[in-house]
Amino acid sequence: MKIFSIFGDPVSHSRSPLMHNSVFSVLNIDACYSRSQLTDGSKLRDVFFAKGLSGANVTVPHKEAAYQQCDEVRGIAKIIQAVNTLVLENGKLIGYNTDADGFMNAIQSFGPIRNALVLGAGGTARALSIALRRGEITPTILNRSAQRLDYFTSEGFDAYVWDDFTAAPYDLIINTTSAGLSDNELPIPRALLTELLSRAKGAIDVIYGKETPFLQEIKISGLPYKDGSDMLLAQGVLASYLFLNGAFSLENIEAPMKHSFSL
Ligand code: NDP
Repeated sequence: MKIFSIFGDPVSHSRSPLMHNSVFSVLNIDACYSRSQLTDGSKLRDVFFAKGLSGANVTVPHKEAAYQQCDEVRGIAKIIQAVNTLVLENGKLIGYNTDADGFMNAIQSFGPIRNALVLGAGGTARALSIALRRGEITPTILNRSAQRLDYFTSEGFDAYVWDDFTAAPYDLIINTTSAGLSDNELPIPRALLTELLSRAKGAIDVIYGKETPFLQEIKISGLPYKDGSDMLLAQGVLASYLFLNGAFSLENIEAPMKHSFSL
């Protein structure tokens, strides 16, 4: 039996085990997918091999650490420098990033978007910013602290901390921070958020499975919005396709994975 897992801290909220196990079950694959709470991201590679895994997903806050520990990184993950999917191939750890394409699938429903404000500067913000630029949507990055902004400025993006930032009109406001995941915080000060929402066409929180304070504010504003469920599904389908070495089509994987959301 092949074993897969998700690494994160926190990880108890993750729907990934249910999603991937549904695919294994419906497609009759001898595999199972578990959760691995990991506090020290630098141990990720050792734990992956100690558990005898065939593949894994990586979530907050270890995507950058995962990137560092791969034998080879493929595709858009090389530019993003953050990995959310690990596959064992001939004894080597291969890293991918499926968040980027998953996110672009999820925002199709908002219609044409010219520019976006990305709240946060972690691994997810990197993935989304690179993907947005590829999709000809200009991202601006806003984070509470300066430390992680270097990557974005080196990529040529406008990137600010709260104190340097002056609100301008953005079509889409995107929360990629973990504010609201296991606390009740907004990703930016409320007055600034209210102003940004008043000039936006839509907003999306990549957190899923709970109504975050950010989502509550969007609801009040009356804007079109979505949480992270569509992105979660799309990145999961792409990760499963990699876990199964392309033996099943994306459509075959999507149906049971989508069904798991109703369980
Ligand atoms: P990281 O740990 O890499 O980055 C977290 C970011 O959030 C940092 O910019 C950090 O700012 C900011 N932040 C954390 N707490 C607060 C707060 N209270 N107020 C303001 N900013 C805050 O996380 P990831 O990028 O890996 O993941 C971020 C979120 O995206 C998680 O909630 C994760 O679950 C979700 N996610 C959802 C996916 C989906 O499929 N729906 C896919 C991928 C991620 P600072 O730099 O100042 O510390």
